[in-house]
Amino acid sequence: TAGEKMQQLTILGATGSIGVSTLDVVAQHPDQYQVFALTGHTQSAVLAAQCVQFNPRYAVMTGESAAAKLAALLQGKGLRTEVLVGVEALAMVASHGDVDVVMAAIVGAAGLAPALAAAEAGKRLLLANKESLVVAGQLFMDAVAQNSCVLLPIDSEHNAIFQSLPAGFRRGALQNSGVDKILLTASGGPFRTWDKSRLAAVTVEQACAHPNWSMGRKISVDSATLMNKGLELIEACWLFGVEPEQVDVVVHPQSVIHSMVQYVDGSVIAQMGNPDMRTPIAYGLAWPERISSGVSPLDLVATARLDFESPDIERFPCLRLAAEAYSRGGSSPCVLNAANEVAVAAFLEGDLGFDQIPEVIERVLNQLPDTGAESLQVLLAADVRARDLALSMLPLVS
Ligand code: NAD
Ligand code: MG
Repeated sequence: TAGEKMQQLTILGATGSIGVSTLDVVAQHPDQYQVFALTGHTQSAVLAAQCVQFNPRYAVMTGESAAAKLAALLQGKGLRTEVLVGVEALAMVASHGDVDVVMAAIVGAAGLAPALAAAEAGKRLLLANKESLVVAGQLFMDAVAQNSCVLLPIDSEHNAIFQSLPAGFRRGALQNSGVDKILLTASGGPFRTWDKSRLAAVTVEQACAHPNWSMGRKISVDSATLMNKGLELIEACWLFGVEPEQVDVVVHPQSVIHSMVQYVDGSVIAQMGNPDMRTPIAYGLAWPERISSGVSPLDLVATARLDFESPDIERFPCLRLAAEAYSRGGSSPCVLNAANEVAVAAFLEGDLGFDQIPEVIERVLNQLPDTGAESLQVLLAADVRARDLALSMLPLVS
């Protein structure tokens, strides 16, 4: 609103699906948000074009050659943008004193350190990177609490739950708030109706073609194996301070209801909308107010019907593996995530069958002892061990 200070925004993972959607919303509200920093990994040309449009103070690439390429592309453009390189620079732009809001949209465990830096700096943190909470949930939530970080979930399900919980809900206070259960919806992915026997032959193209959402490749494969729902179950437990028994996964193929909260009096509150990440992104940017997002209004008559079914953990064991890893605690969820990242990358490279993804993860989980979750160092060491072990199993002989 007029007269208020412009919000300074850092987007970690600006070149990805969530990053691009965030910039789309920001571009609709140039009087409210100014881009302070954008970060990318390999796509120098994409980040360069974003810099030309948004003129950030900093642009960060993770590698030297990508950074040099970006600097060359920005040469002579008359921008204020300074190009930086490396993981320290990611943490710097996430915690800088001039930054108000950080969108954490790097994919995988690589996004943990800068997201944690933003939490420790007490920023308003828009969290898309669910892997942060899977790998280091306790450390992360402690940092949020100790530094008065305002943590807003961007994952559509968790954003829906956040919107459906009573106003002023305190973490872990489910019963006191009259809440009975969280109903976490899942689309079921592209192979929801497929026979188990067909899953071995799934191609990369099929796995990345999500029926309702357009997303990065890693999360698309996670959605197809249902590991995404497993990661989201863990994410919900940390975000809202609940146990897995208080979260029911419900398959809802239309992805119009984004999740629900069931109250003790029988009420069920759902958040609905077209499946477009600009809605939760706009919510996170403006909370507790609302701004337009560019998402078209939901056409209920065209939607016509909403279906629901139970998830099939026999065909999609990743959901079970994630729940088990969370129950074991310690380093297990971190190991689950690392093994999954390696298995998904191997599948995307054509080195692993789709149905072998859960096999790799289960073997790694069974072979590695719990080394605890006391510190970031301990967790990062567990992450490296799990990646090494998973890699050593490839190609997987079933
Ligand atoms: P994406 O692959 O499209 O983009 C990933 C971004 O991370 C890119 O900007 C890339 O440059 C950067 N990146 C990749 N590896 C990196 C590394 N090692 N170091 C630093 N940066 C790196 O992914 P996405 O679909 O935008 O997803 C981003 C995150 O948001 C994931 O954690 C995903 O689970 C979560 N999420 C995405 C969606 C969605 O609709 N896409 C929905 C909910 C949650
Ligand atoms: Mg989600």
